Amino acid sequence: MKLALNTLPRGKSEQIFDSVAQLQHDKSIEWKPLRLELKLGIDRQGQNFYLNGSVSCTGLFICEAGMEEFEATLESNFKVMLTFDSKYLEGYEGDEIIQIPAHESEFDLYPLVHDSVLLAIPISHVCSDDCEAGKALKQKLEIEVEPDERWAKLKDMFNE
Ligand SMILES: [Zn+2]
Repeated sequence: MKLALNTLPRGKSEQIFDSVAQLQHDKSIEWKPLRLELKLGIDRQGQNFYLNGSVSCTGLFICEAGMEEFEATLESNFKVMLTFDSKYLEGYEGDEIIQIPAHESEFDLYPLVHDSVLLAIPISHVCSDDCEAGKALKQKLEIEVEPDERWAKLKDMFNE
């Protein structure tokens, strides 16, 4: 997922990246990425590149309520400024700024995409508010923790 900096036109342009392979091979990801689309808006101004990424990633996740697999699409955005000129690092008040080493002609977008996708995963990730598998699982657990008479007797013995 490399952005070729030296061939970018001045001003505004847009590029689409849709290879999901790198996410799929990422060992740190515990769910299955299926599809990815990054729409990247680029604004090249001299030594600076203003990037505005919209990420849409579909994957198979494990529902926290029912433990079943479900498909979901995560939408996220990132904004970052790339610059060849270190003077911009001081006093810049945007979201994020990355300095590109001189003579570097490519910028790897993958770390930005990776972080953006992972931050988009909800803290409690469930298939829906009304998870059928979750209800079934809850019911099953409730039956299993139903107090057993023998245990109740044993408990009484200890209490005596
Ligand atoms: Zn579920």
